[in-house]
Amino acid sequence: MENPDPTSRAPEQQPLSSPQDQAPPAAPEPVAATNPVSDSWARGADSSEAPTPEPDDDATRVIQTDEGATDGLAKCSRCGATDISLNVATGNLRCNFCRFEWSAESANDAFDLDGDIGKLLGVTVGSGSSDIVPSTDEVMTFKCSACGAEVLIDTASSTQARCHWCRNTLSMNQQVPNGAVPDMILPFKVPKETAIASINKFVQKRRFFAHPLFRAEFTAENVMGVYLPYMVVDINAHARLSGEGEHQTRSYTVKVGDSQQTRYDADLYNVVRDFDVHVSDLTVESSSDRLEQITSQNSNNIINTIMPFDVENAVRYDSNYMKGFTSERRDSNLDELSPIAFTQAEDITRNRVNSTLGFYDRGVRWTQQDVNVRGQRWVSAYLPVWLYSYQQHKSNGKTFLHYVAVNARTGETMGSVPIHQGKLLLVSGGVEVAGIIAAIVLTALGI
Ligand SMILES: [Zn+2]
Ligand SMILES: [Zn+2]
Repeated sequence: MENPDPTSRAPEQQPLSSPQDQAPPAAPEPVAATNPVSDSWARGADSSEAPTPEPDDDATRVIQTDEGATDGLAKCSRCGATDISLNVATGNLRCNFCRFEWSAESANDAFDLDGDIGKLLGVTVGSGSSDIVPSTDEVMTFKCSACGAEVLIDTASSTQARCHWCRNTLSMNQQVPNGAVPDMILPFKVPKETAIASINKFVQKRRFFAHPLFRAEFTAENVMGVYLPYMVVDINAHARLSGEGEHQTRSYTVKVGDSQQTRYDADLYNVVRDFDVHVSDLTVESSSDRLEQITSQNSNNIINTIMPFDVENAVRYDSNYMKGFTSERRDSNLDELSPIAFTQAEDITRNRVNSTLGFYDRGVRWTQQDVNVRGQRWVSAYLPVWLYSYQQHKSNGKTFLHYVAVNARTGETMGSVPIHQGKLLLVSGGVEVAGIIAAIVLTALGI
């Protein structure tokens, strides 16, 4: 895995003053200072410690996450029925025949995901996050052990199917290299009725500006529960930044000819930040459709605005959590997703660093920025979303897919509705209304 090259990026910190304000340094005493960073940030950041062994990039450690998982009839342990589904109210799996309830093991406990990020070295992946083998079938055939019939499971949208002869449910829990069975799943928690109410509310608020056809066709009952594929990533990195920072000591005016000029005195410091970066539970979309975000055709980035998910409450994958819901298969591998995760980790790092630079009121210019990713852990997950989607047919013959999405853990709701252009023009004279329009347009764009 390659580290992103932070030195190739322009330094974020610019001097705070414009060049004409720069006075020649009034002979400030250059002070070399290595400012300590805040405690929480500097966790274990003593660079004088014994050097950490360099991780061996080839040594990918795989956590087997489907150990003991079986395909076929997943039976209730009390009565043997296969009609099992999630009880959203309790978060448990429930046998719909005898009402017995149980839960899959917490993913944190099962795979030791809570472990110290600082001890992560090299690349660790859940077995359900391994690379997709392109030739792997999407539709899998299973033999029903109750009646012997052959049952097809279309893994693009589910990992379960009902035997058409004996009506038992067949589940697929063993991982196949097509990305359909993840390491863990975060069960739905927000009931469908709540999601419908909240989608209704979202649309009603924008009703006045909504396209009449959309208003006529809107039925929140059409909401679907979908598990979207994500990678949950932990990163252990070490960063070292060095450069120069200026702290203003004095400002005064001098007379130059007929005019007054403001001059500043500043001390120049050597600034060094050397620290460990521990990033926990980054969520990265692993469906290429979601990643592409073709904003002319759909408003996918809405999903990003309903983050975050409490992934720490995910459980070991069990297909029975999927009954009544659909899913979208992961189709991206670590190689494609790593740059996205590392960029996010870098952004987090930069924000944290900037928060320690308040003293340098005239800015810091980094001359060197090194970020070394020592360890990373990747676990694939299905995260739950209620979706109302609407295909808008535009007058130019093109279509645009609108969404209203509800985070099925937190209830956070965001979406876009097709706008009635005529109404926008009609009312855009009023300043107050214009503000509302701006808000709606932003919403429509999913910003
Ligand atoms: Zn039962
Ligand atoms: Zn059967």
